[in-house]
Amino acid sequence: MTQPDQQAPDLAAELHALLERLDADLAAAHNAEEARAAAAKLLGKKGALTALQKKLGTLPAPERPAFGASLNRAKDDAASRLENRLTTLEREAFERSLSGPPLDPTLPPRGLPHGHAHPLMSTMHDIVDIFGRMGFQVAEGPEVEDDFHNFEALNFPPDHPARDMQDTLFVDAPGNLLMRTHTSPVQIRTMLAQQPPVRVVIPGAVYRHDDDATHSPRFFQVEGLLVDDHTTLADLKGCLTLFVQEFFGADVSVRFRASFFPFTEPSGEIDCRCVVCRGKGCRVCKGSGWLEILGCGMVDPAVFRHVGYDPEKWQGFAFGMGVDRLAMLRHGMSDIRLLYENDLRFLRQFQ
Ligand SMILES: [Zn+2]
Repeated sequence: MTQPDQQAPDLAAELHALLERLDADLAAAHNAEEARAAAAKLLGKKGALTALQKKLGTLPAPERPAFGASLNRAKDDAASRLENRLTTLEREAFERSLSGPPLDPTLPPRGLPHGHAHPLMSTMHDIVDIFGRMGFQVAEGPEVEDDFHNFEALNFPPDHPARDMQDTLFVDAPGNLLMRTHTSPVQIRTMLAQQPPVRVVIPGAVYRHDDDATHSPRFFQVEGLLVDDHTTLADLKGCLTLFVQEFFGADVSVRFRASFFPFTEPSGEIDCRCVVCRGKGCRVCKGSGWLEILGCGMVDPAVFRHVGYDPEKWQGFAFGMGVDRLAMLRHGMSDIRLLYENDLRFLRQFQ
């Protein structure tokens, strides 16, 4: 602290009081800005020390040099007090930033948003998984097919009316190419590529000339094929009953109905008790109490002949189902187009 000059009691006391106030102001400053403002009240061009300096002339001449020296020391002193306070404030701010808010290890993590499978893909995965556990391997094939694999080898002759049910999109290119109407051509490709025994499950997209609440022009099927010796209709029935009960629940009953497909003989369809109304009859099952789940049958010997298998030696069964339909039944959806609109408000329900 600068000692006021004894020979100029009034001005010296004023100087002393100014430095005392500076100390108080600096101590009260919460940050560098407030500390600099406090110092500026003394040191600035319009500051108190400058004002005091102007009063130097009121002193008797002999006292002026000593008081002038006191003023200069006071300026240096005020500047260094400001520097000290700024250093302290900076250190305090740094220490506060180190300590921060107390760490709470029990807080749940903020978590990154993560996606999930589309209900169609998770349904398809579940179907494939059930057959995988029964020893079926996954087989895949092209979505653009030729007439031989999609129709002819599957026993659809060129003028057969069954082709009308599978009206599709044709590709404007040589080779009579079309968008496959079912996953069955992969059966043909698999059998052409290997000898029995065959046990494959075939997931994939297929195409039809359809577009309404229950039909989409592009949809998904899972198909299966088993070829072995001594394969019977009982194997088909046991395998597919087990599938339906694995997928919908063990308490769901199943019925077989005769049907027609060109590539199986005999052919059938499997219905299960309506999973919505448990058989009482509702809008989903159209009052019948039963839901059509899949088509199936014993492989027609004509198909075996197309791929070079001996129908006297080998028997097999095949089946196919619409993934969209099973996903809709499982989740109680009323419109197939919901599955293709990619509206996240809808899709987020199936996480
Ligand atoms: Zn029902």
